[in-house]
Amino acid sequence: MTYRAPVADIAFALKYAAGFAPALAEGVYGDLAEDVVEAVIEEAGKFATDVLAPLNTIGDRSGTPFKDGSVTTPPGWKEAYHAWSKAGWNGLAAPAKWGGQELPSAVNAACTEMWNSAALAFGLGPLLTMAGIDALVAHGSDALKQAYLPKLVSGEWMGTMQLTEPQAGSDVGALRTRAERAGDGSYRITGQKIFITYGEHDLTDNIIHLVLARLPDAPAGTKGISLFLVPKFLLNADGSPGARNDARAHSIEHKLGIHASPTCTMVYGDQGGATGFLIGEENRGMACMFTMMNQARLSVGLQGVAIAERATQQALAYARERKQGRATEADSGGTQSGSSPIIAHPDVKRMLLTMRALTRAARAICYATAVALDRAHRGGDDAARKAAQERASLFTPVAKAFATDAGNEVASLGVQVHGGMGFIEETGAAQHLRDARILPIYEGTNGIQAIDLVTRKLPLAGGATVTTAIAEMKRTVAAVGAASDPAFGWTDIRLQDAVDSLERATHWLLGSAHNDLDAALAGATPYLRLFALALGGTLLAEEALAAKRLAGNSADAAARIAIARFFAENLAIQAGALERTVVEAADSVNTADAALSY
Ligand SMILES: Cc1cc2nc3c(=O)[nH]c(=O)nc-3n(C[C@H](O)[C@H](O)[C@H](O)COP(=O)(O)OP(=O)(O)OC[C@H]3O[C@@H](n4cnc5c(N)ncnc54)[C@H](O)[C@@H]3O)c2cc1C
Repeated sequence: MTYRAPVADIAFALKYAAGFAPALAEGVYGDLAEDVVEAVIEEAGKFATDVLAPLNTIGDRSGTPFKDGSVTTPPGWKEAYHAWSKAGWNGLAAPAKWGGQELPSAVNAACTEMWNSAALAFGLGPLLTMAGIDALVAHGSDALKQAYLPKLVSGEWMGTMQLTEPQAGSDVGALRTRAERAGDGSYRITGQKIFITYGEHDLTDNIIHLVLARLPDAPAGTKGISLFLVPKFLLNADGSPGARNDARAHSIEHKLGIHASPTCTMVYGDQGGATGFLIGEENRGMACMFTMMNQARLSVGLQGVAIAERATQQALAYARERKQGRATEADSGGTQSGSSPIIAHPDVKRMLLTMRALTRAARAICYATAVALDRAHRGGDDAARKAAQERASLFTPVAKAFATDAGNEVASLGVQVHGGMGFIEETGAAQHLRDARILPIYEGTNGIQAIDLVTRKLPLAGGATVTTAIAEMKRTVAAVGAASDPAFGWTDIRLQDAVDSLERATHWLLGSAHNDLDAALAGATPYLRLFALALGGTLLAEEALAAKRLAGNSADAAARIAIARFFAENLAIQAGALERTVVEAADSVNTADAALSY
């Protein structure tokens, strides 16, 4: 079963769950027309479905052989990449000044989902290039921008993002790669980076590495980190790739999934030091990297949505075909021999609905984060832009962690729906699960996202950012109640409970837990899930209300109401238990060392 981009669903979620339609109506996007957005999503969907999706299995099986320092990408990969970048997809959201189309981040988010559904290992490379473009646009000197941005935006060159070293993973401040001033304005970089995605490959004729390193006189920890642009090939006077820089891939990793994405160990300075150019100011590299990481974290969240969507499509198709047992329903589609398609069994329906509901909620949260980012860049005044930036900051860890956890849960359920065939590589369901497993780990593990949410994001604007978000959730719950439509079942009651739980847990974290950091840290992951259930549930309810408003009694409205209801009654209902875990169970974590002492 291959992938079909769900363009209608994607466009609907963007407009009505994520708040793109109101932003468009308010003029946040200038004179951008809705039909242009729909046409872009439609075209991206075609490319993802027709060109990229067929490469997914090929990439998984071929991997990226490494020989004599070079990486060969799977058959068809290069042609697809060139067709993709030639069509302008890489620069969709990049500034027009540098050759991009300057379309909204929210539209790019929709496209990012589709590239990654089609082939996650393919989508990962451009995702990092785009994040690098953002960092360079925000922090690079004019000379660096002019030399590198046009080719990065066009996709002629790809970028990498290099933080990780053997002793510095989550703890970036422990990195040791050194940068020395060369005296001519450039720097000499020496050291080793590990786990570098697309650190070496044959897709483009130059690779632009963004590398974190430390100057000899830098303060310890994250305050002493600087960001450098280190090209694989230094540039000739005419801007073309020239001499090879002193940077190389030493080896690639053998991995559980994303086999077609080369993960490289990089070595700098075999011959005295790679030439690097400072981005931003010395010792201010983390600020630059955060520009890059925030974009990349949202995009990794979108990878979670992407894999969930693909796994759901595949499981649904299988469940409609596979016949086993006899369903109790009269209209179960039973065959002459009496067996029913497994989709008729309530337990299989439950799995499929869970898959669809998690996917849709994760999509809504990720797209809402992208709309907040757009408002932060394009909003009417400083106050609106600042509030939107804080909202994007608050939502980013939730988008990254919830959507990637959802990707794993959904891919695992996808295997389960297939029964034994799910465990057999032939069906492809297993690849989704293997590919999904990295998502909660890279771009800051989901544990680190939860800590970020609780310690840095909740206190934003003195707590006003989260309070405003909760107030909006309450308005949606009230609107569901006011709709008085029996099709919503217990949706408003369950969502009200979830939002109340979120509100109480938030107050606890901002209040009493303030003086007990370990208690807050012990509850961070359940709190992030609680946040996502309340936010995801209310965004799905928004989507359902919009469908009801626009299409009355249509099948589409019925389907959206059904999924919002399923989410509220089966998933958001877990909020109360999560609240108690956050508020009451911290002690059971922090006093239980005895249980881990043997
Ligand atoms: C396939 C792949 C591709 C990657 N691509 C890139 C890339 O392109 N560029 C790049 O720079 N890196 C990349 N990485 C590295 C990735 O970002 C790191 O693996 C990740 O940040 C985690 O670091 P670590 O592996 O050292 O784990 P550790 O930091 O050792 O973490 C181990 C566990 O401890 C937890 N933990 C650690 N510290 C804390 C803490 N303070 N509080 C609570 N829990 C904590 C973590 O959540 C995790 O569960 C990639 C990794 C892989 C596997």
